[in-house]
Amino acid sequence: MEQQLMALREEATLEFTKVTDLDVLNDLRVKYLGKKGSLTGILRGMGALNADERPRIGQIVNDIRAELEKIITARSEELKQAAMAKRLASEKIDITLPGHRPKLGHKHPLTLTLDRIKSIFMRMGFTVAEGPEVESDYFNFEALNLPKDHPARDMQDSFYITPDILLRTHTSPMQARYMQSKQPNEPVRIIAPGKVYRCDYDATHSPVFQQVEGLVIDKGIRFSDLKGTLDLFAKEMFGSSVKLRFRPSFFPFTEPSAEVDISCVMCGGQGCRTCKDTGWLEILGSGMTHPGVLEKSGYDPNEVSGFAFGIGVERTAMLVYGIDDLRLFYDNDSRFLAQF
Ligand SMILES: [Zn+2]
Repeated sequence: MEQQLMALREEATLEFTKVTDLDVLNDLRVKYLGKKGSLTGILRGMGALNADERPRIGQIVNDIRAELEKIITARSEELKQAAMAKRLASEKIDITLPGHRPKLGHKHPLTLTLDRIKSIFMRMGFTVAEGPEVESDYFNFEALNLPKDHPARDMQDSFYITPDILLRTHTSPMQARYMQSKQPNEPVRIIAPGKVYRCDYDATHSPVFQQVEGLVIDKGIRFSDLKGTLDLFAKEMFGSSVKLRFRPSFFPFTEPSAEVDISCVMCGGQGCRTCKDTGWLEILGSGMTHPGVLEKSGYDPNEVSGFAFGIGVERTAMLVYGIDDLRLFYDNDSRFLAQF
C-alpha cells in the first residue's frame, strides 16, 4: 500500500506540473483528491491493514494530501499570472479614442429669461439682491403700506404658515429689507429676482412663479427716470421696435402707479389672439415709491425719491418664446424643454 501511495504521489506531481490550463488543473484536483478520487480510493483499502500499520499509513496519506494541495495552489497561482501576462501583452488600450460623453442638459427657459433680465439691468448699473421666500407679515405687507385691514391684501391670496409668517406673495418685501440694511437716504439701485407664492392655478397663473423687483432711490429721481429705464429694458428684451404705454393703476406702495404695456410682439400692434385684438400686452407694474414706504424704512421723502417696478418672469418668457400655457414651464416634459 505504501508503494501504491508513492506511485500516486509521483504520478500526480508530474501531471500537476505539466498542466497549462486552470480548468484542467481543477479536474486533476478532483481526480486525485476529490471524494471519489484516487487518494480516497486507497484510503478505503486501509481496513485490510493491521491495526499497528494504520496510523503510519494514515500519516503518509495526510502528508501526501498536504503536499499535493500545496503544489496545486502554487501551480494555480502560476497559471493565473501567466494568463494575466498574456492578456496584458495582447490587449492594447487606445488612450486617444474619445470617451463616452455624458449628455449635457441646458438651462430652463425661465432661467434663460431671468438671466437676460438680470444682464440688461446689470448693464444699467443695478445690483442683484436676494431675500427669503418665507417672509414676515411685516415685510410682505406692513412695510409696504398695507396695514392689517387694507383691502389690497385680499388681492393676493396668500399661503400663511402662522398668522405672522407667510410665503411671500411678491418680491416687494426686498424693497424694505434692502432700505433697512442701508444708512438712511443712502442711494439704492437694485433688482431682486426670486420665487413668489399665491393660491392660484390656471393657464396663466401658477401657485409658484418668479418676479423681478426693481428699486431705485436717490436725490431727484423722477417719473421720467422710471420711463427711461423701463423703455430701455423693454427694447433690449423684446426688440427695438417695441413701443411702451403707461396706464394709471393702483399699488399701495407706489404713488402714482402705472401698469406698463408693450406693443404686441406677435402682431406688431395690429391686433391678434395673443393681445386679444388690442395691440398691447401688459408686462409689468411700476410707480414712484410711496412716501410712506420710504419713511417706514428710515428714508426721508423730502430728501430722496424713487421708483419701483415688478416684472413677471413667466409672463416675459411666454412673450419672448411665444408660449401660450404657463404650466408647460413646470411640467418638465423634455420634448418641450429641449426646444430652448
Ligand atoms: Zn397682437
